[in-house]
Amino acid sequence: MGEAIAVLSGKGGTGKTSACAALGCALSELGKSVLCVDLDVGLRNLDIALAMADEPAIAFSEADPDSPLALQAARHPRFGNLYLLTAPAFDPAEGIDEAAFLRLLARGREEFDFVLLDAPAGLGEFFRLAARDAGRVLLVSGADPASLRDASRTAEVLELMGKTRVRLIVNRVNEKLYGKMNLTVDDVMDGVGLPLLGVIPEDRNVPLSAAFGVPLLLRSRRGAAAACRRMARRLLGLRAPLAARL
Ligand code: ADP
Ligand code: MG
Repeated sequence: MGEAIAVLSGKGGTGKTSACAALGCALSELGKSVLCVDLDVGLRNLDIALAMADEPAIAFSEADPDSPLALQAARHPRFGNLYLLTAPAFDPAEGIDEAAFLRLLARGREEFDFVLLDAPAGLGEFFRLAARDAGRVLLVSGADPASLRDASRTAEVLELMGKTRVRLIVNRVNEKLYGKMNLTVDDVMDGVGLPLLGVIPEDRNVPLSAAFGVPLLLRSRRGAAAACRRMARRLLGLRAPLAARL
């Protein structure tokens, strides 16, 4: 039986989609089967981050939860056992059939080791839907104080929802800047009140990989790619060093 992991943030543009794609590829490299689901209804872009924009992919709302998802979802051309269900293009205000989505998620957990849910920004319907049945939640924050404060509010919302397995990912960290401000990993964890899954440095390979249609992990072995590989190992309970400091 697999596990659903929701990748969330209160604020937009923190790097959820990029992190979700890189974690999906890294888990696949570690031999796990992964279904990535784009929940950003109306603004889908997980296909781009996965370098799957040219693959014919159906939306999660079109998938039939009563038949094998591996036969319906788009298969990644470079990573074995990595699949994508994209988001429908309709207006999110139209809402979706929640019961059908939860059945889809249950099927996904039966078929795959991991179902990664890439949520849109904000604390709206899809945030709640992504968090609701997820076994674990990854909260992605920028490294600046305003982002971290936002992450801490979002962590409170998740706590009220009864989510206990929530880990923080701090993205776009500029190591030099943080060194100067004397902030440490412990300061960040204390400030947000969540354990840290990992720290992703600012890395131009992230936007460049999307621009060139190459998965981040196949473009680079350092920086953000290395950070995501370490986080995937930690998700599996394997040893991988956290960045020594921010
Ligand atoms: P979200 O899904 O939270 O809206 P995205 O993953 O789409 O965020 O990222 C928003 C923008 O930030 C994109 O242009 C992406 O390339 C860029 N980005 C994300 N993470 C990094 C990083 N570690 N280094 C540099 N740019 C990044
Ligand atoms: Mg996104």
